[in-house]
Amino acid sequence: MAQVKEQRTVTPETRHGLPPLPYDFAALEPYIDAQTMQIHHGKHHQAYITNLTNALNKHPELLDKGIDDLLRGINSIPDDIRTAVRNNGGGHHNHSLFWTIMAPAGKGGGGEPTGKLADAIRRTFGEFAKFKEQLSNAAITQFGSGWGWLTVANGKLEIGGRPNQDSPLMDGKVPILGVDVWEHAYYLKYQNRRPEYLTAWWNVVNWEEVARRYAAAL
Ligand code: MN
Repeated sequence: MAQVKEQRTVTPETRHGLPPLPYDFAALEPYIDAQTMQIHHGKHHQAYITNLTNALNKHPELLDKGIDDLLRGINSIPDDIRTAVRNNGGGHHNHSLFWTIMAPAGKGGGGEPTGKLADAIRRTFGEFAKFKEQLSNAAITQFGSGWGWLTVANGKLEIGGRPNQDSPLMDGKVPILGVDVWEHAYYLKYQNRRPEYLTAWWNVVNWEEVARRYAAAL
């Protein structure tokens, strides 16, 4: 009997697709401008997905893996595509998170966290203002392109900067809040003024989503 070829129900196109923004391009104005959002989401994020898919096509057995698994297992990705998966898979995951942890100011965005996340932040960093300062500093002092992260590891919150599109998942940590400090994230509106972008960004942080991610990470 002839062997039936495996039917793939998950295609690379559907497996790693561009998630729609959960709000309009202009929804985060005046803190993040519509043009930046449009280019960032439609061009930059899409490019990470396209490049990730192109890399995975060289090793079709990896096409069915979810993005979290690919990043957690980055060290076992074949040599010839590891860097591409690191950069583009990381870029895909980081941006997918980034869109969800923001919301229009005053409509889910800004303010302070409540509940268990607020307690954990206070326990770990002291007052909320101190936490903000620490995460801002991690992002502002990240040399070159990268991200500032709030992660959960072994039930504990940690703050740290990471270069390029490296994901905390690559070190076994779960990212729950991240701020993109690549110039493409702020240059149109803020030019070289990264600290000003950071100050503005806090107005659009979606604490409900961060709290949901915190609970899921525990
Ligand atoms: Mn970006």
